[in-house]
Amino acid sequence: MAKMTRATARKIFERLAEAAPAPKTELHYKNPYTLVVAVALSAQATDEGVNKATKSLFEVADTPEKMLELGEKKLGDYIKTIGLWRNKAKNVIALSKKLIDDFGGAVPKTREDLETLPGVGRKTANVVMNVAFGEPTIAVDTHIFRVGNRTGLAPGKTPLDVELGLEKIVPADFLLNAHHWLILHGRYICKARKPECWRCPIADLCGFKEKVMSPHAPKKSEPKKTAAKAAKKPAKKKPAAKKKLSGKPKLRPVKKKAAR
Ligand code: SF4
Repeated sequence: MAKMTRATARKIFERLAEAAPAPKTELHYKNPYTLVVAVALSAQATDEGVNKATKSLFEVADTPEKMLELGEKKLGDYIKTIGLWRNKAKNVIALSKKLIDDFGGAVPKTREDLETLPGVGRKTANVVMNVAFGEPTIAVDTHIFRVGNRTGLAPGKTPLDVELGLEKIVPADFLLNAHHWLILHGRYICKARKPECWRCPIADLCGFKEKVMSPHAPKKSEPKKTAAKAAKKPAKKKPAAKKKLSGKPKLRPVKKKAAR
């Protein structure tokens, strides 16, 4: 893949900005604290699922103090529909306590401080800094990781590689919203299994070799099976019978020596 130039990167962001002039996070929140909680709950869950759960939660607990008052058990009842909810409930209570103990109940503004909160990693810290405090950070989630690699904007093996690559190539005037544009692009057009390249506004600038230029093309993970292919499929080998392991060794009968 040819190296992406700054001029091409600028064109990409001009077009993404044209498609979504005022991009916003799709997570619902009321203040920096509820944003931290919503982002912490959103790991391996959809924004839609998190919003459903937090709608009534944030009516009763929108500050760390109120969350501690609610307690872990009742918090669990609100977020039971979200994956890994038990662990997340623990983290939300622990981070609320830490906010009160170490930061006077306010959400800190630096990545270093944010990362000291239980359940808050670099990605969550970047979202909070960007959305709540207007810092030009890029929180690399699964969508941004994919788009960064496919397009050639910021190829990298780890989310941190992609984040640092994007920081270098995204023009400064697009940096604040770059993270939202890339997430929206990945979520709705440059989808994981079947990117919708046929309607992609940056298709002519994208370096991805395996573009899908028709909505009728099969999904990547669903190759068409022909009868011949299906027939060729090797039969599964029967697993060899496992040797029984028990404490007692089996004793073989001792053969009697024939009398001479
Ligand atoms: S052309 Fe296809 S692979 Fe490239 S950004 Fe658009 S949707 Fe993604």
